[in-house]
Amino acid sequence: MDLIKHEIAHLEAFRDLLGEEGIADEVCFRLGETFDAAMSDEAWERLKGAYEAMKKDHGEGHEVVRACRLIENLSDAEEFTQMKGCLGAVVHPTGQVWPYKFVHALLRTVLKAGNLNLQAHTPAETVSERDESGWITVKTARGDVRTKAVMHATNRWASHLLPEFSNLIFGSRSTLASIKAREGFIKHTGAQHWDSMVNNYHLQLPPPYNSIIIGGARSLLVHSPQDCYRNDEEDKQFDGVPEFFQSWPKSDITEWPGSHPAELARNVDDGGCWSGIESMSIDAFPFVGDIPDRDGHFVAAGFSGHGTCFL
Ligand SMILES: Cc1cc2nc3c(=O)[nH]c(=O)nc-3n(C[C@H](O)[C@H](O)[C@H](O)COP(=O)(O)OP(=O)(O)OC[C@H]3O[C@@H](n4cnc5c(N)ncnc54)[C@H](O)[C@@H]3O)c2cc1C
Repeated sequence: MDLIKHEIAHLEAFRDLLGEEGIADEVCFRLGETFDAAMSDEAWERLKGAYEAMKKDHGEGHEVVRACRLIENLSDAEEFTQMKGCLGAVVHPTGQVWPYKFVHALLRTVLKAGNLNLQAHTPAETVSERDESGWITVKTARGDVRTKAVMHATNRWASHLLPEFSNLIFGSRSTLASIKAREGFIKHTGAQHWDSMVNNYHLQLPPPYNSIIIGGARSLLVHSPQDCYRNDEEDKQFDGVPEFFQSWPKSDITEWPGSHPAELARNVDDGGCWSGIESMSIDAFPFVGDIPDRDGHFVAAGFSGHGTCFL
């Protein structure tokens, strides 16, 4: 419950920050409701079971329990989720944001304030231990930086500079696509679940973009786990995934009005369908804090993310 509340607190925090900075529209920020749709009896048992257990543990009056609800009737579930064959759904509050635009909008603000020296495309090649005069040296092709503290915010790649993380943080290749759709076609962001592994998740960007961003394709990828787990080949497409995503709107969304197969918003290798490396940590939690036996080194890495929305 602490974790759920922590996540929910992001909705207000994002609303306040983006409002204060005046960048809510620029970063395509939206608040709303999302759903986890059960596409099989097994998924329904698990989703409904989790909701019922939360209600039992915390009581119907609990603020988080009140913010969530079940849709049990098949036609209501299909109408809300727009997912063909959805057996039922758990609905809960959510938000969406365009992360790249969000990070760049914040960088713009911080750079304007003049306190940041940003060196993009500049890998840190080595990071020293603290020397006798108290300095840590970070070596890059553009020169060295001397500092009293280093934050390793390198996520899956943390072990390049910190070999002790080699067996703690791993790569897992996954994939997304961007599909052309008419404005406002998708009513709610959401996810489809067949079991605890096989899923898809999606959202629609607001105008002028309007693309549906869909990730998952796990029903295809479970057949070749070696292409995903402990795999860092983010410069390669998965075989068959662009075609899977292009066939998804017609096969999975009720009353899809678009073409079949659906049109990708851009070329396959130009952002229309892409693969990337999610990080996985040994215990599914990120590593955040000071690094044992490395004075002045801090880490925030091993984040695996959480569906195409905050929640
Ligand atoms: C296909 C895909 C879909 C995803 N979908 C979602 C989603 O829907 N929702 C969600 O919440 N999350 C999602 N994620 C996960 C999300 O992208 C990550 O959790 C998030 O980006 C982690 O942020 P970060 O800043 O910790 O790490 P990153 O964004 O990975 O940033 C680490 C940075 O460190 C840099 N770096 C590494 N080594 C060095 C070095 N030696 N020197 C200098 N720089 C270095 C890298 O270039 C990179 O820019 C998804 C990830 C993938 C791959």
